[in-house]
Amino acid sequence: MDMLPNSTEARDIRYQMPAAADMRKHEETGSVVIERGEGIYVYDNTGKRYIEGLAGLWSVAVGFGEPRLAKAAFDQMSKLPYYHQFNYKTHGPSVDLAEKLLSLIPFPMSKVHFTSSGSEANDLVAKMVWYRSNAMGRPEKKKIIGRIKGYHGVTIAAGSITGIERNHTSFDLPLDRMIHTSCPSYELFGKEGESEADFTARMLADLEALIEREGADTIAAMWGEPVMGAGGVLPPPAGYWAGVQAILRKHDILLVADEVICGFGRTGKMFACETYDIVPDVLVLSKQLSSSYLPLSAIVINDAFYQPIADESHRIGSFGHGFTASGHPVATAVGLENVKIIEERDLVGNAARLAQMFQAGIKDLATHPLADHARGVGLIGAVELKGWDKPGQAGTAVADRMQAEGLIIRGIGDAICFCPPLIITEAQVTEMFAIARAAMDAVAAERG
Ligand code: PMP
Repeated sequence: MDMLPNSTEARDIRYQMPAAADMRKHEETGSVVIERGEGIYVYDNTGKRYIEGLAGLWSVAVGFGEPRLAKAAFDQMSKLPYYHQFNYKTHGPSVDLAEKLLSLIPFPMSKVHFTSSGSEANDLVAKMVWYRSNAMGRPEKKKIIGRIKGYHGVTIAAGSITGIERNHTSFDLPLDRMIHTSCPSYELFGKEGESEADFTARMLADLEALIEREGADTIAAMWGEPVMGAGGVLPPPAGYWAGVQAILRKHDILLVADEVICGFGRTGKMFACETYDIVPDVLVLSKQLSSSYLPLSAIVINDAFYQPIADESHRIGSFGHGFTASGHPVATAVGLENVKIIEERDLVGNAARLAQMFQAGIKDLATHPLADHARGVGLIGAVELKGWDKPGQAGTAVADRMQAEGLIIRGIGDAICFCPPLIITEAQVTEMFAIARAAMDAVAAERG
């Protein structure tokens, strides 16, 4: 790439270590500089417009450039830009948002604790699970079950619960308390001639066998995204969540639902726990909670989870955990305004209404010669590609082409993943898939 020595691109290479990138490639090619955003579109520093078909990182529900969020941040910054929540201090914005979240969740939950990222939230829940087992006099009940292709973040505990190899390799993860069960994607792992019901039964038998092998008395909790996101958009097979919950109840194992991607309407309901009839002990939220305008995540716990932890903190004299930015007033003020916008504009309803045409669009892309199958739910979906020489490279190759054509999505392995802002319109869904198909045609033509 030609770049002026003092351009943002050149200085980015000189000064920044990138995330989720091959650093040698970054040194050579640099990064695209995204300069501004409006609605579902973002613009780079040459003025080129892109549809943000992944809502940033699955997160910008209300679209880019929402003035109400800028105003909420400005107003809160002007009044109280910062305060902590250590040592019996609090402030209105985090209380208001906690109350709001508890009113929206359709099953009884007891308390909310705010953190700043999905990783931090999941890491803290792992610590809370261990703290709780100790509090209950069950110090041997500590293992945590994650799932292959599950994604819960990159910090040490969250990264260990994650079941994706590249998040483990060379980082000395996972910790040995974290164990993984099979990935319940019927599309990817169903066997020739195996029905969906048989596949579900096999996944549940795998989980039972893992619990049997390890010993239920050593396992404290299982984590799961209702729909796996960063593993490649993998919706569960029918009957999966009902079966998992029955097994966990039987063995006295807690369920942590990671709705960092699914929460706030992505599947066409406010929470994917409603879509799949999941009643977790702990619910983890982030991303669309603040549309990622500011870093914010929330841990929502039920009373049975809370009580032993509260007792233990009383015994010790304090819950020895907290971040400087826990419950940050500006982030929670923006979060509350964002949730109000989601409600007032009925963005959950918009997702539900557009789901059918969006999923039809994904299925239509799957008729392309480069494609194998489509999968998805609500306003999230993926197309699995086929015919590449090396496995795992088709997704980024096709996603790169789509980016050149003005559509940013995400290539994961051999899949291309779509997750647009919830404000998207019917016409924009059509526009997005037209660009996607044109890019796939171009790639197919190049490959002959
Ligand atoms: N959980 C899930 C389900 C996620 O998708 C992500 C981020 N993609 C995380 C946790 C981690 O969130 P963060 O990047 O904010 O740490």
